[in-house]
Amino acid sequence: MGTLSDKVRERMRQQAAAVREGLQGSGGRTAPMFDLTGKNALVQAGGSFFARLLPRWDIAQKFVLKDGKWEQNPQYEDDFIFFVALEHWWDDASGKPNRVWCPRSHDEAAPCPLCEAAEELLGSADQDDRQQGKRIGARRSFLFNAVVGRTGKRQMTPEGHPDIRVLPVANTLFASICSFMTGDSDDEDAAAFARGDISDPRDGYDLMITRPAKQNDRWKADCAPQSSPLCAPNDPAWGDWMTRLVDLPEMVRRETKTYEVLYQQYFGEAPPAAAEAPSASPTPAAGWGEAQQQPPTGGPAPAPPSGSDPWASAFAGSPSVAPPAPAPGPAARPRRPSGRP
Ligand SMILES: [Zn+2]
Repeated sequence: MGTLSDKVRERMRQQAAAVREGLQGSGGRTAPMFDLTGKNALVQAGGSFFARLLPRWDIAQKFVLKDGKWEQNPQYEDDFIFFVALEHWWDDASGKPNRVWCPRSHDEAAPCPLCEAAEELLGSADQDDRQQGKRIGARRSFLFNAVVGRTGKRQMTPEGHPDIRVLPVANTLFASICSFMTGDSDDEDAAAFARGDISDPRDGYDLMITRPAKQNDRWKADCAPQSSPLCAPNDPAWGDWMTRLVDLPEMVRRETKTYEVLYQQYFGEAPPAAAEAPSASPTPAAGWGEAQQQPPTGGPAPAPPSGSDPWASAFAGSPSVAPPAPAPGPAARPRRPSGRP
């Protein structure tokens, strides 16, 4: 029987705790996340916080140990540091907001009861219906790995590790982040200061993110004028930070509920075709590590995601292991929500 290193054991405990939390919470979370709104919001209306975006979740694969020296892995392909997920929001009868991942986050042909309902409502002759259709339609959420706190003062966990979590940002903040990196902007001043990869741990840039004072105003991001390191070199507290990055597509896959569960949650009843075959996995966390389930209804069955190992990220730091196949390319590409202009 193999033994677990302290590092892996600690990571597994952390993930198990997140899963248990997800089972109890409304969001079905399986990884820690920074909340930008709601009762656990990181910042109050009108306030700001510093954040540092982190490299891609598989960054530990970028280097391989060869003859005692770290070298760049020729098989590693750079890709987006973020993952674009689709989510649905709606208020239930009691006015409580519901939020779920859309099954089309990974496969744009996947059946989704919320997308289907939105499309139907948008085609209605009734204006209220069309508004409701707009409200529940899929929205893009750009997911990053991040730490909060400025250089030298990053937020740590109670156990003394860097508090790396998922930071979800919506369109406006995402556009700002892109313009800091690429220099492309409608604003000529901003365009003059392309900073490249602001997530680079050696010489990236901190962000200051400001929450609007009024609910419907826009979030704002400012980029530090000077680059800075993510952490002090050889700081033991940061020794394993790369292994603490959240595999974002895998997290969304784990947390995406099945068609029947989504249907039940939105309509308050089982989908017609599933009535005689009750689902055996009512919670998202129960599907931990499984490929997304296919709906029992007819129609084209999407190919299941390739068999990715949910624990792979826990071992990402091991240089002796051959690098895993890169995440499927199309999943990381931004995509328009279905049925939206
Ligand atoms: Zn959907």
